[in-house]
Amino acid sequence: MPFQALGLVPALTKAAADLGFTTPTPIQTEAIPVILEGKDVLGTAQTGSGKTAAYALPLLQRLQQQKTASNRRVGALVLVPTRELAAQVGEMVRQFALHLEPRPKVAVAFGGVSINPQMMALRGGADIMVGTPGRLLDLVSQNALKLDAVQLLVLDEADRLLDLGFADELQRLLALLPRQRQNLFFSATFPPDVQALANELLHDAVRIEV
Ligand code: AMP
Repeated sequence: MPFQALGLVPALTKAAADLGFTTPTPIQTEAIPVILEGKDVLGTAQTGSGKTAAYALPLLQRLQQQKTASNRRVGALVLVPTRELAAQVGEMVRQFALHLEPRPKVAVAFGGVSINPQMMALRGGADIMVGTPGRLLDLVSQNALKLDAVQLLVLDEADRLLDLGFADELQRLLALLPRQRQNLFFSATFPPDVQALANELLHDAVRIEV
């Protein structure tokens, strides 16, 4: 089954094709239509399954449908455990967004580097924010980032987020988000603390295991 059949707009299927993605992976086939419908997703997925595109492509489409032209507040927040993953996901989202009109602005933030360029990059806002929890909180406390318009939340590698000690930061970030939003939760494993976080975040989630 080609990407078009999953309900994605041509600008997104073209961007996927540009990257050499012609046939969706199993998690993409299952997750993309469900996310496009606006449902919460609980995905069991390993790295290498194609989970980034499984959430990034429909997320871009949902955001494009929902936002008003003047709205430059962050509409989608993607939380990841490491700077490497933040950079990698941010780059992939940018590639997927290339043919969209208007083209959404993607910002990436992670710790261990100077905060100033990240603050500069957020001037004028961003549509999609990808980052690690600690640095995102720093940006909020510096008034460089506002999360009160987030319509879509992604937790990527939720088990690693908790393993790396981000539980408190996660809770502080979650408290800043609107209650009404779509949640996409991905984890390779589901020990009790990850399951508890999923239960807290998700509403009538569609479970996807690949
Ligand atoms: P991920 O699991 O999201 O880290 O993706 C693993 C790798 O598979 C990445 O290098 C992607 O570029 C690649 N990939 C993801 N989806 C597809 C697809 N449908 N066709 C070809 N390659 C893909």
